Amino acid sequence: MSEPALRLSGIEAFYGTAQALFGVDLEVPVGSVTVLLGRNGAGKSTTLKAAMGLVDVKAGQVFVGDREVTGAPSYKIARAGLGYVPETRRVFAGLSVEENLVVGERGGERAADFGAATWTRERIFDLFPPLAGMRERQAGQLSGGEQQMLTIARTLMGNPQIILLDEPSEGLAPVIVQQIAATIRTLAAEGLTVLLSEQNVRFATHVANRAAVIERGRILVEGPIEDIATDESVREAYLTP
Ligand code: ATP
Repeated sequence: MSEPALRLSGIEAFYGTAQALFGVDLEVPVGSVTVLLGRNGAGKSTTLKAAMGLVDVKAGQVFVGDREVTGAPSYKIARAGLGYVPETRRVFAGLSVEENLVVGERGGERAADFGAATWTRERIFDLFPPLAGMRERQAGQLSGGEQQMLTIARTLMGNPQIILLDEPSEGLAPVIVQQIAATIRTLAAEGLTVLLSEQNVRFATHVANRAAVIERGRILVEGPIEDIATDESVREAYLTP
C-alpha cells in the first residue's frame, strides 16, 4: 500500500503539564476524506494542532508522506504540504475578500511537485460563488458561513496537499453546512486529501469516507465511515447523535 498522506504515530501532547493526547495513532490515506469524530474535549483539535506543530508534542512522530516533520515549526510543516483551517476561522477583518486571498497566496511550484491543482483567485471564486459576488467587501462584515468559506479559500491559496479542517460545520446554519459539505467533496474530487474534525456524525457521513473516533485523548476505532457511523455501540458511547 502507498504511504499515507499524513501519519501520526504514538503522539503524546500536552498543554503545560496537562496531557491531552495519549499515544494517538492516525493515518490519513492519500485522496481520502478522513474524519476525526468525538465529543467536546475529546482531543480532536489537539490532534490537528499536533499535526501542524501547534502544541507541545513530547513523544511520537508526525509524517507528511515519507517526510518526518515532528517538532518542526508550523511554517515548515505548511511548506511540506499541510494547510490548516482552525476552529476560530480567522479572517483579516479589515481587508477585503480578495485581499484575504492575496495574503494566502504562495508559490505554485510546490503544487506542481505534488501533482495537485494550483489555486488561483479565479478558481477559488468558481468554487465559492458567494465569495465571487463580494470581492470588495470587508471580510469582517461577512456572515459566519462566508467567513468559514473565506478561511478555507485562503488556505487553498497556499496550495496545500492535505487540508486540516477543525469542526468546519460548527455554529453554521444548515444551508451553509450543506454548502461546506459540497465544497469538501469538490476539494476531494480535485485530488486534495482532507482531514476534518467533527462532532456531527450526519455531516461526517456526507463528506468522509474514513473515520476515527477519539475519546479522552485516545483513538478508539478507525475504519470506513459506513462501518463506524452505523455501529450503534460506538455511536451511543462516544458520539453525539
Ligand atoms: P472541542 O470540540 O471542544 O474543540 P476537542 O475534541 O477538539 O473538543 P480539544 O480542544 O483537543 O478537544 O481538547 C482536549 C483536551 O485538552 C481537553 O481536556 C481540553 O480541556 C484540553 N485543552 C484544550 N486546549 C487547552 C489549552 N489551551 N490549555 C489547557 N488545556 C487545553
